[in-house]
Amino acid sequence: MGPGRAVTIRGVAATIIDGKAIAARVRGEVAREVALLRERSGRVPGLATVLVGDDPGSAIYVAGKQRASNEVGMRPFDERLPAHASAEQVASTLERLNGSPQVSGILLQLPPPPHLDGPSLTELIDPAKDVDGLTPVNAGRLALGVPGLRPATPLGVMELLRSVDAPLEGAEAVVVGRSNLFGKPMAQLLLGANATVTTCHSRTRELAAVCARADVLIAAAGRPRLIGREFIKPGAIVIDVGMNRLTPEEAGTRSGLVGDVDFEAARELAAALTPVPGGVGPMTIALLLRNTLQAARAQLEREERAA
Ligand code: NAP
Repeated sequence: MGPGRAVTIRGVAATIIDGKAIAARVRGEVAREVALLRERSGRVPGLATVLVGDDPGSAIYVAGKQRASNEVGMRPFDERLPAHASAEQVASTLERLNGSPQVSGILLQLPPPPHLDGPSLTELIDPAKDVDGLTPVNAGRLALGVPGLRPATPLGVMELLRSVDAPLEGAEAVVVGRSNLFGKPMAQLLLGANATVTTCHSRTRELAAVCARADVLIAAAGRPRLIGREFIKPGAIVIDVGMNRLTPEEAGTRSGLVGDVDFEAARELAAALTPVPGGVGPMTIALLLRNTLQAARAQLEREERAA
């Protein structure tokens, strides 16, 4: 078992997977690798964030990514465009970053303002710098099972599963949610690990019964406490990706952020589970940093081969 906290409730031991600790370990590894790369080649990986508009939530995410890349010794590039920026302006920023040898990874903060189309702008990112793993080239590489940059949150979930030695080969894995950002790539990664994978969505019939088959249950519907007691097979590993913000009235004395899983029920039934906050959340930035390192290394290798 990795850095999980064993908690005993009514005689049942559920390991609470400590995403904060695991993310800190991943960041530490990335920082060491960045230092080595710098020593060996003089190359400092650069992470560019592109924020269009002034949505306060998006600005907080971008600031977090900037800070985190700085902390592991990467060079952050902070690109901001006004809320009324045209698609051409965003495209020309992305093209400039694609062409910059100092930039290893590019993150376009989604969603952009409503007059812009996030997916078609994402397509303009050089797949070699697409550290969110969202371009059609990288999504296609994942579907084909060939190397490429993978979306950070599903990669983070794989890391959490590894931390509890989750046996994935031949296991029944159920993913609730089919978004391009999370559900689909998550299902592909689990398939790549030889799990038997079912993807559920809002039209799935008998959702509880399907989930109750799962040895590994991954909830990413964005519905507070959708996953109740009857959804959980005793002994399952439950990963809660949901991040739902409650209003102050709903939250009462609790934290304002809840997941998709009824934590108390899961704690009594599951073998291991992630809390919200402190489970999947911290992993995303850690894996973004690892992706940026991967992209920087691959770019350096290409340059060395071409020289
Ligand atoms: P999304 O694009 O809104 O997708 C939600 C998915 O859940 C859809 O496929 C939807 O089905 C399905 N769904 C919704 N209600 C359902 C229900 N009652 N039963 C079964 N399926 C249902 O969301 P997302 O971007 O994938 O994110 C999902 C959740 O994960 C959100 O809470 C988000 O905040 C969180 N998240 C967290 C992180 C992180 O921790 N860093 C990263 C990414 C996402 P349809 O396709 O049929 O509509």
